[in-house]
Amino acid sequence: MVIPKFECIKIIHNADDFSIQERFAALRSLIQFHDENYVASRFDYEKYLYSDFWQVIKDYLFFKSDWRCQRCQDEVKRWKMQVHHHTYRHLFKEVLWLDDIILVCDKCHKELHEIDEEVEEWQDQTKQGLSISHSIQI
Ligand SMILES: [Zn+2]
Ligand SMILES: [Zn+2]
Repeated sequence: MVIPKFECIKIIHNADDFSIQERFAALRSLIQFHDENYVASRFDYEKYLYSDFWQVIKDYLFFKSDWRCQRCQDEVKRWKMQVHHHTYRHLFKEVLWLDDIILVCDKCHKELHEIDEEVEEWQDQTKQGLSISHSIQI
């Protein structure tokens, strides 16, 4: 059953009367069946992070992971939870691509970014290595 668009929007913004599963389902319906650019066309990234739309995704991950960090499994306080993007490929549509993001504690979030930086550094070095060998071939 597809929830009508105006209902979706009403449910997403109404945390008092609807459960997190209902709000998540409404956001999913909105993006999947009505308007995939609904969120993207209304927010820049900074504002998005303070919007109900992002809060619904965060709260849903939090609920699904039993209020634990999805990386180290430690319990996380609601106000301390953070979401890390493995990729920004589906920014504003994460509701359909939950594998792109992970709910983490502060410590894990820092570690994830350190790992990412190492990977980037390694890729840079590899790229340089490639261009050197390429120029030698020429
Ligand atoms: Zn953690
Ligand atoms: Zn991150």
